[in-house]
Amino acid sequence: MKCRRCSGSAVVEVRRHNAAFCKDCFPAVFTEQVRRAIRRFDMLEPEDRVLIAVSGGKDSLALWDVLLGLGYDTTGLYLGLGIGEYSDRSHDTTAAFAGSRGADLVVVDLAEEYGFDIPTAGRKGSRSTCAVCGLSKRYVFNKAAVDGGYDVVATGHNLDDEAATLLGNTLRWKTEYIARQSPVLPATDGMVKKVKPLHRLSELETAAYAFLRGIDYVVDECPLVAGNTQLRYKEAMNSIEAASPGTKAQFFLGYLDRGMPLFERTSRPTVRPCDACRQPTTGRYCAFCRAQAQVLGRRIEEPGPDDGLETARAMSEEVMPAEMYGAAGA
Ligand code: SF4
Ligand code: ZN
Repeated sequence: MKCRRCSGSAVVEVRRHNAAFCKDCFPAVFTEQVRRAIRRFDMLEPEDRVLIAVSGGKDSLALWDVLLGLGYDTTGLYLGLGIGEYSDRSHDTTAAFAGSRGADLVVVDLAEEYGFDIPTAGRKGSRSTCAVCGLSKRYVFNKAAVDGGYDVVATGHNLDDEAATLLGNTLRWKTEYIARQSPVLPATDGMVKKVKPLHRLSELETAAYAFLRGIDYVVDECPLVAGNTQLRYKEAMNSIEAASPGTKAQFFLGYLDRGMPLFERTSRPTVRPCDACRQPTTGRYCAFCRAQAQVLGRRIEEPGPDDGLETARAMSEEVMPAEMYGAAGA
């Protein structure tokens, strides 16, 4: 196989493009795809302060590597989930990457900062482990970006992630979620702008980029991934892709071109500040504060100063009896 760009010896085949690239050209092609995605969706301005959610995996480190190479002002944010050795290794790998690039890394430890870790939340709360993990990440990333004065939060979601999410939302016709599945979500109501610059690139392409760039990343999956529904949708998409290469990209990129404009008319819920933490939410308390109170077995604290009686009533409705935690965690 020859490289499409330079006719040298190819090492990466991109079946859906019916093309192959050598070890020097592939990272350049990958970077160009990211640059195009940023331009097409107005993701980043040259002067933006960008907070990158980094986990130690290939996607987030590849994204950080590309954005550093393109000259953006980036800081990594690592969230310690408290998942034993897996989290320790993820933290060390992320810190080593930041050190090797001379890049800034902010570390937030969920247990230190908020009093619980993800395995405990999975056992004691009423949500699945991955659900509480996902909402904790969204919460902490947004809060850290607001508190730190960042313009944008960038995440390493790739084409496989986005296609799997779209499949899951479509199977259940979650129209509000489908409408929000854009590679860029503008800043609104206390929410910092969110961007996904890798959304055109597959998991295999991201892994190839990380390998060719010599990025040391955590290869092992999270030990709690077994219950992750997204994984099942990914497997389903992969088996369709194996039989019919290009379907994954047609599904998600086709949605961006032709489906998203139709779903954009779907009404969005009104957002207000959470009475406990002031982060944006559609209800009185945000999902993170409710999950935290449930896991810690306590009332939601620090009601807003403006509505004492209503807040007190809502607080009593929010509190769950202690025995329910045990039942939920059994
Ligand atoms: Fe969190 Fe689940 Fe992903 Fe593990 S697999 S990091 S628990 S979302
Ligand atoms: Zn809150």
